[in-house]
Amino acid sequence: MARPDPLIDATDRGLVCRAGGFTIDPWKPVDVSLVTHAHADHARPVAKVTYAAHSSIPLLRKRLGEHLELRGVDWGEPLAFGDTTVSFHPAGHVLGSAQIRVERTAGERAGEVWVFTGDFKRDPDPSCEAFELVTCDTFITEATFALPVYRWQPGEVVAREIFDWWQLMKASERPAVLFGYSLGKAQRVLAELTRFTDEPVYLHGAVYPLTELYRQAGIHMLPTLPIDLADRKVDYRGRLIVAPPGASGSSWMRRFPHASTGFCSGWMRVRGNRRRRGYDRGFVLSDHADWPGLLRTIEQTGATRVLTTHGQASSLVRLLRERGVDAAELSTRYSADDSETDDTAQDAAQDAAQDAAADPETVADTAAAPPPAGTSDHATQP
Ligand SMILES: [Zn+2]
Ligand SMILES: [Zn+2]
Repeated sequence: MARPDPLIDATDRGLVCRAGGFTIDPWKPVDVSLVTHAHADHARPVAKVTYAAHSSIPLLRKRLGEHLELRGVDWGEPLAFGDTTVSFHPAGHVLGSAQIRVERTAGERAGEVWVFTGDFKRDPDPSCEAFELVTCDTFITEATFALPVYRWQPGEVVAREIFDWWQLMKASERPAVLFGYSLGKAQRVLAELTRFTDEPVYLHGAVYPLTELYRQAGIHMLPTLPIDLADRKVDYRGRLIVAPPGASGSSWMRRFPHASTGFCSGWMRVRGNRRRRGYDRGFVLSDHADWPGLLRTIEQTGATRVLTTHGQASSLVRLLRERGVDAAELSTRYSADDSETDDTAQDAAQDAAQDAAADPETVADTAAAPPPAGTSDHATQP
């Protein structure tokens, strides 16, 4: 049920806090924005002044341009905005990703605390700051993978699968081309793989500069080399190559004949996704909370009210209401998919439908398809 004067309100510009005079992750022009992280659906160059966690600043500069006015904030540093105090807390999603805590400091409801997660995960990730639990009254959460089918293995287990696949390709003298989002996923894989090897990995041009920024931030990863398509001398047989999903099926792939292809994503949990996109291997590695992670986090925050932004919100909201929690969906433009040009989310909806038609066992997966809506307005990055 809507309450009067919410501390944070979903508007046509973003998540607006009127008491504080700012907007979180806006998609339309505003004066002051607080940005949770550097993925394109959350970070857009639309604010006069943008506040973000310090470790997010170089990534935001790279993606949004040098001209933006960006102000770095320390973890947990209290900032006064109007009748609120605001602080940033690690979300464990990608480097510099933050949850934003907002506390009302004036009026009848002074002391009321809201937290917006942005995107988050609970699983350990050597490439970013660990999630910090922040208690609150109202918890605004993402719901990207909010269905029981989505459960993750630890990153190190998935990294072992990737490493074994790479070694197999080495034995058969084929390139191993791994697709993953250029910000976050690629660097997580490069960090997880340091457990098994110190061999260099070749990177697509969209992945290389972001990886350099992670390295400058002190993240330990495998050594990396940029791919120069003009250089015909490099022999990619037996090499691991990391590229964004958009490079799959493009002319860029011609440089890697007989390559085996893999895709690293939570969406690989639904088998139709892999089949439809024609990947040889699917590695289930996500930078979002899985179903148990979402439920555990909601409970631990102690929130009496839960609002969801993007993803599979309806099933989560239904379950929370059954448990007596005041829960509702907010309408936002955040995407259920962190890729920029990838159409995995749309494909998955069709895949799940096809799966269901072809095989009664996968009917349960029908609901596991991400909504096609919400992926349409972020096809902006190469
Ligand atoms: Zn994200
Ligand atoms: Zn998101």
